[in-house]
Amino acid sequence: MENSIQMFDVIVIGAGIMGSCTAYQTSKHNQKTLLLEQFDFLHHRGSSHGESRTIRATYPEDYYPKMVLKSETLWREAEEEVGYKVYFKTSQFDCGPSDHKALKAVISSCEKNSIPFRVVDHHTVVQEFHQLIQLPENSIGVVTEYGGVIKPTKAVSMFQTLAIKNGAFLKDNMEVVEINKDSLRGGVLVSVKSGEEFWGKKCVVTVGPWMKKLVENVSGVVLPIQPLETTVMYWKIKQGYESKFTIDNGFPTFASYGEPYIYGTPSLEYPGLIKIPMHGGRPCEPTERIWAPTVTLDPLRKWIHEVFGGLVDSTRPVMTQSCMYSLTPDEDYVIDFLGGEFGEDVVIAGGFSGNGFKMGPIVGKILADLVMDGETKDVELMHFRIERFEKNPKGNLKNFDDQVRRKRKVKR
Ligand SMILES: Cc1cc2nc3c(=O)[nH]c(=O)nc-3n(C[C@H](O)[C@H](O)[C@H](O)COP(=O)(O)OP(=O)(O)OC[C@H]3O[C@@H](n4cnc5c(N)ncnc54)[C@H](O)[C@@H]3O)c2cc1C
Repeated sequence: MENSIQMFDVIVIGAGIMGSCTAYQTSKHNQKTLLLEQFDFLHHRGSSHGESRTIRATYPEDYYPKMVLKSETLWREAEEEVGYKVYFKTSQFDCGPSDHKALKAVISSCEKNSIPFRVVDHHTVVQEFHQLIQLPENSIGVVTEYGGVIKPTKAVSMFQTLAIKNGAFLKDNMEVVEINKDSLRGGVLVSVKSGEEFWGKKCVVTVGPWMKKLVENVSGVVLPIQPLETTVMYWKIKQGYESKFTIDNGFPTFASYGEPYIYGTPSLEYPGLIKIPMHGGRPCEPTERIWAPTVTLDPLRKWIHEVFGGLVDSTRPVMTQSCMYSLTPDEDYVIDFLGGEFGEDVVIAGGFSGNGFKMGPIVGKILADLVMDGETKDVELMHFRIERFEKNPKGNLKNFDDQVRRKRKVKR
């Protein structure tokens, strides 16, 4: 047994976007890397599958835009390395009531991070987007150039391909059930359900909505990360207007601050359809899901009708897909050493609260830095440390309402 165990510099658990980007980074830096996934690679049971994710630099929290810009560079580098595109750039349009605290914070955050932006009102928005978008009188819009669509399944596949190219070992249908400190050799022993065991000098845990359960099982640490089941919705564009809602016609990725928070991407993956979901969803166990819309659609229908003036059929979504968020109380990420008996040998990254996809490449870089060097120079991790919940169970303090929880209508 002692001689037969496979040994690695880094074992990454969970092959969503975060784990795949991490395996890419560690293998790129000549670390012998193993990436373990409990299901088939590119499955649809977690958070990183599907056809579109928004990339935007407009965050109310001023510590995210710089991460987005760094991530954008890494997206481009990976595309160049692999030779195909996963990221389709357009502008980003955020809107909402002019006195909305989070939207005002977006503007301050753009100013602080030197992100160029334009504010439009209900008159000027009409020219800005070729009369496709309308706003109520008391609303404003913020237009920035840092928007776009990333194709998630294709992007995860890209990073896995690049990791393999760098020499990483990828194994699927391997559910990790235990991580133990190896007191003899140092490092950790990772055991999978079938009984196989792997040794890693370091281990990175990126298991998305399964994070709370796995981390509690292996270390007793209870992370406040709540899985939510959420639904992606596609709506039909009025016949004759299909091409108007495309990136080629300058249509933006968009988000509407208010109750509910609504977001969407231009028509791209399914011609004639546009993706417009609501942020949030139903608290769930990853193993117990409904797989159907879990919130009332009336506010979304009303919003689509008002904003797109009948050019998008607001009667009902014509296609839906189920997905999971991993929500923290402050909607900030958790990126940290697990600590305790594992010290700096195990690094965890989760709680991406419905907005982490765009950050995959920079998170992968941070996690690789943490296991290789014990620190990262790329991003200040203060807001992402576990200890913030020890000081305050609600985590980081903010002076605006969060986007998912506020008055969320949840069907349990
Ligand atoms: C509907 C929806 C829309 C979104 N929109 C955006 C957006 O527009 N922009 C944006 O930036 N982000 C968006 N996000 C968020 C983004 O998709 C997630 O933050 C991101 O995909 C999280 O990736 P992950 O790798 O942490 O988790 P996951 O993708 O869930 O990956 C975790 C992996 O770990 C595996 N795993 C779990 N337990 C084990 C185990 N014990 N052993 C082995 N493997 C295990 C799982 O099977 C899974 O494959 C959206 C999310 C959803 C659901």
